[in-house]
Amino acid sequence: MEIMYKSTRSDAAPVTASRAILTGLSPDGGLYVPTAIPPLPCSLEELAGMDYRELAYRIMSCYLTDFTEEELRGCIAGAYDDKFDTPVIAPLVKADGAYYLELYHGATIAFKDMALSILPHLMTTAAKKNGLTKEIVILTATSGDTGKAAMAGFADVPGTRIIVFYPKDGVSRVQEKQMVTQRGDNTHVVAIHGNFDDAQNRVKAMFNDRELAAELAEAGYQFSSANSINIGRLVPQIVYYVYAYANLVKNEEIKAGDQINITVPTGNFGNILAAYYAKVMGLPVKTLICASNENKVLFDFFRSGSYDRRREFILTSSPSMDILISSNLERLIYRLADNDPERSRTLMEALVRDGHYAITPDMKAGLKDFAGGFATEEENFDGIRRLYKKTGYVIDTHTGIANAVYRQYREETGDETPTVIASTASPFKFARDVMNAIEPEVKVEDDFALIDALAKASGREEPPAITDIRTAPVRHNTVVDRDEMKAAVKAILNIDGIR
Ligand SMILES: *Cc1c(COP(=O)(O)O)cnc(C)c1O
Repeated sequence: MEIMYKSTRSDAAPVTASRAILTGLSPDGGLYVPTAIPPLPCSLEELAGMDYRELAYRIMSCYLTDFTEEELRGCIAGAYDDKFDTPVIAPLVKADGAYYLELYHGATIAFKDMALSILPHLMTTAAKKNGLTKEIVILTATSGDTGKAAMAGFADVPGTRIIVFYPKDGVSRVQEKQMVTQRGDNTHVVAIHGNFDDAQNRVKAMFNDRELAAELAEAGYQFSSANSINIGRLVPQIVYYVYAYANLVKNEEIKAGDQINITVPTGNFGNILAAYYAKVMGLPVKTLICASNENKVLFDFFRSGSYDRRREFILTSSPSMDILISSNLERLIYRLADNDPERSRTLMEALVRDGHYAITPDMKAGLKDFAGGFATEEENFDGIRRLYKKTGYVIDTHTGIANAVYRQYREETGDETPTVIASTASPFKFARDVMNAIEPEVKVEDDFALIDALAKASGREEPPAITDIRTAPVRHNTVVDRDEMKAAVKAILNIDGIR
């Protein structure tokens, strides 16, 4: 079955997967969605016998139908190799009655590596397939983890450049250190005075800026996006949910066909949307539990059917989820609106213009696959501590939100369905808050002394990604106002004054 990609905002002609990956965002401002969500390619028993790469090929080939087998297998082999510190790529760990799907064994120790280690391969393959000669400029806004993972993926990839914007005071110390020490002559990092939504909105505006596109083209560049709006991010994320299920079957925790729940700590709605696509493909998933931090715009949406970003932006200890505009929700809205681009466009325009929108009761009925919850800072820390004291297992502050929300959900509903919790970052990446949660009496100022203390408490070795930043020199120190982002891009690409 040939799958094409169409916009959530217009009836413009669908494009191939490789085109959609190259352009990132549809020219009308919409997100690309597959013209159909394909069924699982084989039985659950067969999937249970596959390793990560084979399973990745089987799932991704259902979506990226204009890639040849050789091309796609090449991309997968180049991505899921010894950049990951375990050959199983995404281990499943049982603790206190839930299954933690550890998605942080890649180069930058957060789940973004799962997709961003393959995106550069998909993109350069797509460029070749489409005869593209311009240099690809990846423009990315990050709430902390995407930026580093994208740079790690694209660093020194021929024919590409990457520019990352992050909120100066909105990321953890380790996250910032990881970014400003990034190697690779084609990598650029810019801090902004503003929050993640400011950065994301201005990046989106640059993608839609025709004048800027023309200036870039003249200088031999073309923008693309490594943000989670790119279909090349979404598709690789479907793989690990199927893999988690396959592992539960293989380990005889469940029988093929049994239902599971999936809990995802959510920000931009990309990770949980991938789980939803897996469900629509036929993976036996009962409920998708969407866990938010105190920026609980999604929790309110699931409850009321009204999405309202007009509220205070709260900085929490799960910074990668500090988001009020969850971009990937647009893809769900489109499905809820019976794939009617007119209806989804109207709602998305209302969000930009008025700061809110409400879906109709029939659309809200489509949300029955989801349960929304949120956890406060205190509930998050309590949950991390409780899990540690009970089992010795240490999770980070994002996974902590999922952990706390899952406990609430289970208490409130009595639903005992086996549950996979997406574990999205290594606790070492958020060592200060994690140590605060598990050993509040330990008072350590120095960041790296804290990491030593965490290694001791968790009985886990410090990951190489941390060891690396202990000594790596700072290579990037640009800070700009949020309204100077476009000027910063032009300066980096040397296109000031080109006419
Ligand atoms: C990005 C991120 C999230 C949120 O994922 P979305 O796909 O944006 O919903 C959660 N946890 C961590 C550690 C992240 O880096």
